[in-house]
Amino acid sequence: MKRSLLAWLRCPVCRSRLSVNSELDEIQTGRLTCTQGHAFPVLRGIPRFVSQDAYTSSFSYEWDHFRKTQLDSWTGRSDTRDRLQASLNFPLEQLQDKLVLDAGCGMGRFAEVVQRFGATYVGMDYSYAVDAAYRNAGHLPGVHFVQADIFDPPFADGAFDLAMALGVLHHTPDPRAAFQSLSHVVKEGGQLTITVYDAGNKVYVANSRFWRRYTTRLPRRVLHVLSFAAVPLYSLWTLPRLGWVFRSMAFISLERDWRWRVLDTFDWYSPRFQSWHTHHEVFGWFKENGFESIEVLAPSVSQIGTKVKARACAE
Ligand SMILES: [Zn+2]
Repeated sequence: MKRSLLAWLRCPVCRSRLSVNSELDEIQTGRLTCTQGHAFPVLRGIPRFVSQDAYTSSFSYEWDHFRKTQLDSWTGRSDTRDRLQASLNFPLEQLQDKLVLDAGCGMGRFAEVVQRFGATYVGMDYSYAVDAAYRNAGHLPGVHFVQADIFDPPFADGAFDLAMALGVLHHTPDPRAAFQSLSHVVKEGGQLTITVYDAGNKVYVANSRFWRRYTTRLPRRVLHVLSFAAVPLYSLWTLPRLGWVFRSMAFISLERDWRWRVLDTFDWYSPRFQSWHTHHEVFGWFKENGFESIEVLAPSVSQIGTKVKARACAE
């Protein structure tokens, strides 16, 4: 944990400021305490506001085993940079000097990109993926990670210029409430960008509901091995005339890179929660939390909005 993170951290219980019992600039082990006496440990370089990973344990497994798969610095490609650009309605160059929250950061794939464009990055995840993220990008200046609950983000209200939750809210027990709690940490004039699964494809939704009844109960290692089936099955699922038959039976990832295919297939079948949403519904989340200038973005369902009103009822 870098000391500079303290400027934006707040106690998730009473919202007061936190101090740390260390004089170091990079703190590996320590204790954060608020003015009311609530305490939280810093372990393995990361402030921990939750004591275990609860419903996100599949992501702890996933990002421990696929720690580098989606990192541009590892693949030599620009998929993650492109994914981030597709989630914004301004060029990446305008991230310069902004403070960015990546809620549900996983192994922190966006950290190195956000940092390269001159912004300060804070990655938050409920799962132990933050340990993978810290190993990937914790050494970069201006990059921070916290392990915390999206329903109780440990940050000052209005702290962030940009908050993003890309492929995250649909893995929480209550996506609308998660959106609401995230909206509080966006400053007036700041932006929030999200991507959730598209409820439009009824075949995918029905399929997923059917198979996930079984797959979410499988031991993670078994599901991990089964996910390798996506490597050869790709050729059947993408057949010119018959592919749709297979695609309507079960989801497998159709990423070109076979490693991504294994990862995305595991990512589909393993999480405890998976929900599906429409643009209309997501637009409503933005409106009810004081956002305007809401734009629909390309990856479905994605929208970005600008906050115009601070939190209505002060706590
Ligand atoms: Zn407190």
